[in-house]
Amino acid sequence: MIRMVDLKTQYEHIREEIDRAVLDVIASTEYINGSAVKQFQAELEKYQGIEHVIPCANGTDALQIAFMALRLQPGDEVIVPAFTYVATAEVIALLGLTPVMVDVDPGTFNIALEKVAEAITPRTKAIVPVHLFGQSADMEALLDLARRRQLYVIEDNAQATGADYTFSNGARKKTGSMGHIGCTSFFPSKNLGCYGDGGAITTSDADLAQQLRMIANHGQNKLYYHAVVGVNSRLDSIQAAILSVKLRRLDTYNAARRAAADYYDAAFSGMPQVKTPARQANATHVFHQYTLQVREGNRDALRQHLADQGIPAMIYYPVPLYRQEAFSRYGAGAELPVTEELCRTVISLPMHSELNPGMQDQIIDAVQAYFQK
Ligand SMILES: *Cc1c(COP(=O)(O)O)cnc(C)c1O
Repeated sequence: MIRMVDLKTQYEHIREEIDRAVLDVIASTEYINGSAVKQFQAELEKYQGIEHVIPCANGTDALQIAFMALRLQPGDEVIVPAFTYVATAEVIALLGLTPVMVDVDPGTFNIALEKVAEAITPRTKAIVPVHLFGQSADMEALLDLARRRQLYVIEDNAQATGADYTFSNGARKKTGSMGHIGCTSFFPSKNLGCYGDGGAITTSDADLAQQLRMIANHGQNKLYYHAVVGVNSRLDSIQAAILSVKLRRLDTYNAARRAAADYYDAAFSGMPQVKTPARQANATHVFHQYTLQVREGNRDALRQHLADQGIPAMIYYPVPLYRQEAFSRYGAGAELPVTEELCRTVISLPMHSELNPGMQDQIIDAVQAYFQK
């Protein structure tokens, strides 16, 4: 059976280790902030090459807590890509800040540097690059721009845990460890996913780390003393124990995704009706999604054709953020051409660590058959 994401087969391969880790937490009764959380935190700090990881309840909370820690004021503007998951802009609006949506690069689907530069005003305080579908945004140029204009950079790394980016001086960094704050999600289908909800915030700034930790814990700086209004956002110990098991395999899982992407690329590269995802030379794509662009007018019919043969496919994302009813006040009249085109033409094919060439041949044959009709 072909699944969009196959968490079941993945679990079957690591069942013994996972079950033992979960049962150990249950027996320990350290369900909240137990040693499993501290251990995972330390492992993720090491993996990310960053001083501070603050685990939290989910990726959306990670973003919200990040913006709370920066103490931005209502009306302050935050630049986000218009082609992303809603959570990126949602927390900005929720905090009374103003999301400013800009267009993306037609090749990588990531925030377009020149559009960011054009959108900066005296009210702009931060930029949120989203490492969409598993590939780093153009961080060197973005960080340069942010430094010159004194803006914060909050990376939305929910889709790219494990991805690398190489700067022109040869320095190699993990996505999520380049900006002032990085935010990620451990939602089950993400590249590093747990078996429920989870998230983390990363920073190399000790003062920010302390603020982030305090805000995630009811604004508490000492037990029952609350310095600021915070939230309750925790990663539970069972999820942390699962994440420790899976973090050890993250590079293997991401390599399997990349091999599956190579296989798709080879099959589709000769087809004029589809465009394979662009890969930046200085970034390691971890293929949270494998997303084709389909010649105008065919996308929805192709998806139906695949569905008729039992092959799932998803549209990430069908509607630009500024056309969402909830966000219409932020983008009245906007029409960003690349975002508009992507929303009409993209389709994401099954992509996960357990895909094999046999399954991929079925998917590829079905795509090719559609265009030969
Ligand atoms: C999944 C995701 C989030 C939110 O993560 P949750 O854990 O579901 O709250 C934020 N941004 C992007 C780009 C995502 O893909």
